[in-house]
Amino acid sequence: MADSEVVAVRLRAVRKEFGDVVAVDGVDLDVRDGEFMTLLGPSGSGKTTVLRMIAGFELPTAGTVELAGVDVTRRAPFERDVNTVFQDYALFPHMSVLDNIAYGLRVKKVGRKERTARALEALESVRLGGYGARKPAQLSGGQRQRVALARALVNRPRVLLLDEPLGALDLKLREQMQVELKAIQRQVGITFLFVTHDQEEALTMSDRIAVFSGGRIEQVGSPAEVYEKPATPFVAGFVGTSNLLVDRVAEQVLGRTGTWSVRPEKIRIAAPDAVPGPGEDGAPGTVREVVYVGSATRFLVDLDAGATLVALRQNQQTSSMDVQDVRGARVLLVWAKEHEFEVRTPAADTPLP
Ligand code: ADP
Ligand code: MG
Repeated sequence: MADSEVVAVRLRAVRKEFGDVVAVDGVDLDVRDGEFMTLLGPSGSGKTTVLRMIAGFELPTAGTVELAGVDVTRRAPFERDVNTVFQDYALFPHMSVLDNIAYGLRVKKVGRKERTARALEALESVRLGGYGARKPAQLSGGQRQRVALARALVNRPRVLLLDEPLGALDLKLREQMQVELKAIQRQVGITFLFVTHDQEEALTMSDRIAVFSGGRIEQVGSPAEVYEKPATPFVAGFVGTSNLLVDRVAEQVLGRTGTWSVRPEKIRIAAPDAVPGPGEDGAPGTVREVVYVGSATRFLVDLDAGATLVALRQNQQTSSMDVQDVRGARVLLVWAKEHEFEVRTPAADTPLP
């Protein structure tokens, strides 16, 4: 990172213990100014605790938290230029949408005129201009979530922390809000630090993703990097389907040692007597399971060499009817060598899932 580039959030060797529990186990992270960074990991991996230490609700057991180059590790929450949006955003039911948004400014003794102007601007930025007079009960779930966002944006924080803010919404609305949230972030230019356990959500919205496991960061990278070149078997398994070929199986199928992976959508299902083309590898096996998932079909194939791979086929022509016959069939899985990637073996002290 260039010296001139502002680092919005910098964590160094951050650790948090709760009694015997090590919730966060030595985290280093730089979040760039204006970046949409996602902390992705399973439940209990330490994501919320990291956010709470950045917000100032928890004191690290060790390590430092910097905001815009200033060490804030021991500062109170109100002395930090951050705001948090939680999943269970409680709006005041008796107040109008506009008053809900302006409430924080009122507490800070901002004058009425400026309060209203800024609340209207925040409402506009979440595309709810014209909804200011409504009560929360007169809004949909997605609109209420956007009001909660406006309530944080109105403070014009340098960094916005979002802890699974879309978790309470149903799938359709959540997918819609993922796109909206990214657009809003780009527009307001505030650094977003977003927490989720949902890999698709992380891949959809983020500039970069930090993958958490057991209180540590396993990898930081762009969505494409994390998906196409997972640094550890854990990342390969958590972000997408892992499809690992390990040691003896890798040697037999690929003629290489180590741990390798091929993503399901890169694998073609061919007849058992097919021959892989130049630049391709292939492995014979038996179809164990066929799962029709609407737009695509997932095939679970037990390789003769020993591993089980998932292959994904888009349902462009075939219907669900023909695929059922495939169960138990002999097939050859074929993929281009360029889609094989090596999964780095983790350090000896990193526990595998
Ligand atoms: P995530 O947000 O990734 O689900 P958390 O940061 O909430 O994970 O929790 C990480 C670990 O720390 C978990 O094992 C959790 O039980 C523990 N933990 C979190 N907060 C507390 C607390 N206040 N007291 C004791 N243990 C806690
Ligand atoms: Mg959490």
